[in-house]
Amino acid sequence: ALTTGIVGLPNVGKSTLFNAITQAGAESANYPFCTIDPNVGIVEVPDERLEKLTDLVVPEKTVPTAFEFTDIAGIVEGASKGEGLGNQFLSHIRQVDAISHVVRCFQDDNVTHVSGGVDPIRDIQVINLELILADLETVEKRFAKVEKMAKQKDKDAVQEYNVLIKLRDAFEEEKPARSLEFSDDEKKIVKGLHLLTEKPVLYAANVSEDEIADPSGNEHVEKVRKLAEEENAEVIVVCAKIEAEIAELEGDEKQEFLDDLGIKESGLDQLIKASYQLLGLETFFTAGKQEVRAWTIRSGTKAPQAAGVIHTDFERGFIKAEVVAYDDLMAAGSMNAAKEAGKVGLEGKDYTVKDGDVIHFRFNV
Ligand code: GDP
Repeated sequence: ALTTGIVGLPNVGKSTLFNAITQAGAESANYPFCTIDPNVGIVEVPDERLEKLTDLVVPEKTVPTAFEFTDIAGIVEGASKGEGLGNQFLSHIRQVDAISHVVRCFQDDNVTHVSGGVDPIRDIQVINLELILADLETVEKRFAKVEKMAKQKDKDAVQEYNVLIKLRDAFEEEKPARSLEFSDDEKKIVKGLHLLTEKPVLYAANVSEDEIADPSGNEHVEKVRKLAEEENAEVIVVCAKIEAEIAELEGDEKQEFLDDLGIKESGLDQLIKASYQLLGLETFFTAGKQEVRAWTIRSGTKAPQAAGVIHTDFERGFIKAEVVAYDDLMAAGSMNAAKEAGKVGLEGKDYTVKDGDVIHFRFNV
């Protein structure tokens, strides 16, 4: 399964946030594909459409789709020098598909800051620099391989050589690979290098309890936003401490607590949704009397592979997919009405599943 790694310097609220994730945690029995590991937190993906579908179909049960966060603990500073725990930190980052980088924007004199005062930009740079140095090493190694062929005017080698120069220049200015623009051909080359600073990043700005309802007065958050924009990253604002409290509440209680605080959506829910998008994930639904359920696919997935997410037999025996768009189904009011209105299509194996499709698969067993 795709996973987002949570990183951050010590004392920024990383464990508090990760604990909130596992507290709010999904029933892992529902998700046999998810990893069972103390460093992995499985969360349900909040989706209003699933609630509306449940009201429409009235099934015996409803199952949201799930998503994994991995807590990447460990030493950060000096990681790229390749010593013990530092090395482990980098190899964990190598294994995740996106990064949630928690940065401290809250002031609390009782919580020591590892490098003195609150300064999220400096903190971000500490971690990013380690990743950039590791990538620089990757690029240098690659140089040694393509340089000779590039000199012989091998066309592919010349193109790769130019990409490597562009990357090296950026790294030397302490800029991550994701801040650069590349052509489609160049992107393929960059992908092949498996760079750490090419992974999508979401900065989670951890603000204090009294700022969460209106973080606009927090100058640190503004600085993080500006930095994120320059390097093609995203930002969300959370208060880890409050998330930990929210995670212990359920349903109505949770909503009341949020209303009292003047918050529309919990930071954790925002984090889950933003990470999902960052990974290019989409949701389709199955809706039967027994179960209404949301499923995760990468965007661009074809119908048989989407069926395979449910069960490998569904993919192997795929015949057709009966598909109705969520909005069309809701507008029609029932599956039958949608059929009568001609909104249910019978799609074959080349059909690309769209976010929000409600699908009934036909297959041979
Ligand atoms: P980690 O080292 O990054 O995992 O940080 P922790 O999650 O252990 O948090 C370090 C300290 O900061 C703990 O005492 C937390 O209670 C406190 N802390 C975390 N988030 C917040 C927050 O949003 N507001 C305040 N005031 N304290 C927080």
